[in-house]
Amino acid sequence: MRALADDPAFRNGVMRCVRCSICVPHCPSYAVFRTEGDSPRGRVQLLRAAIEGRVVPDATFERHLDNCLSCRACEDVCPSAVPYGQLLDQARAQLVTSRHARGRKRVTRIVLERLVAWPRRLALVARLLAIVQWLRLDRLVRWLVRPLSPATARRLDLLPRVAGRPFDARTVPRPAAPTVAFHAGCVMASALGDVQRAALRVLGQSGHATLVPVGQRCCGALHHHAGLIEQARALARDTVARFEGTSVPICTTSAGCALAMKDYRRWLADDPAWSARAAAFSTRIRDLAELAELAEPMAPAATGVRVPPGKVAVQEACHHWNVQQLRGRALELLRQGGATAVALPRGAGCCGAAGLWSAQKPEAAWQLLQPLLDAIEGSGCAVVSVSNPGCLFHIRAGLRARGSSIRALHLAELLDPPDPDPA
Ligand code: SF4
Ligand code: SF4
Repeated sequence: MRALADDPAFRNGVMRCVRCSICVPHCPSYAVFRTEGDSPRGRVQLLRAAIEGRVVPDATFERHLDNCLSCRACEDVCPSAVPYGQLLDQARAQLVTSRHARGRKRVTRIVLERLVAWPRRLALVARLLAIVQWLRLDRLVRWLVRPLSPATARRLDLLPRVAGRPFDARTVPRPAAPTVAFHAGCVMASALGDVQRAALRVLGQSGHATLVPVGQRCCGALHHHAGLIEQARALARDTVARFEGTSVPICTTSAGCALAMKDYRRWLADDPAWSARAAAFSTRIRDLAELAELAEPMAPAATGVRVPPGKVAVQEACHHWNVQQLRGRALELLRQGGATAVALPRGAGCCGAAGLWSAQKPEAAWQLLQPLLDAIEGSGCAVVSVSNPGCLFHIRAGLRARGSSIRALHLAELLDPPDPDPA
């Protein structure tokens, strides 16, 4: 941590904490683990002790940092404006080097570097997974594994149900005068191709001519979350370059990717060749929940979408709730489209998905999910709207495990219902 001790911004950020405890009841990792080191206040104090040389980062220190879900609820309520997300990113980036040297977390690293960052490989894996799911072999494997290792079975539960063929930007006609660009994503494009196609139809219904740049890769959000900061920055540069050439807004269907790409200005702030380009890119990012803003140049407050009648429960991803300040946007959009949308209580905040956190800590993630599932089941709704792929897979797995008939759908699918009278 010596490099961080010499970084005035890091030191200043850590020193801002006045140990007031306001953040503690908002922290989902504290709600699960109940130790000071797993609260935001405790982690900031650990970082302070590390840069002051009072503790040497060891396995326990790393575990406390790993137990953080990066939901940034603490940052949102902190009266001292402790830049918690930034501090954690920097600390994780330091620790990932030592982890790698010891070979720990290697599987996560291999998955992120060799698979997630490469769209064709990811699409191939999604196709294979779709075949496995079609043959129902996934159920058989889960059934066999569950008595031997419930934690592994929970990880397998999280594998997404592949929705249609992967999304391929090359199949989308290039408009002469685009009004919006579309971020295809990695997991969204490979595992939720139908959702991406629904989103394009929604943008079309809103009057948009949508440009989908070809050759897009992962935005780097998952890499950043895992502390692979240099890999995340490389993916950010690649993403920025793909979307240059126009200045239209960029729509994304993943709340997590939206937050990451809005953060590119921070990720690349110290890179003289990219800082201005990244900042310009970040200002263009809009989550699909911000569709009303996207529609504004053409038809203020009229998105042109319609939603099937009935009650819809709305889950707010942490990425919407904290930092991006998009609270209530999905709810509003669904109501505009004609649905009776019901906000779910936030409870402990995060549902437990949190990037790869649910796969790394399946039991804790399961525990965090339960109050949300109770709220969904208690809402009386047949459908729950979700705006982030990780949350969607996690909630679907939870509902499936409970034998619930409630369907978890992405917001884009709800805004693009099948034509009731396809005459
Ligand atoms: S709310 Fe902010 S200042 Fe208070 S303990 Fe938490 S991090 Fe520190
Ligand atoms: S980011 Fe979320 S999980 Fe991490 S310390 Fe803050 S509130 Fe807790």
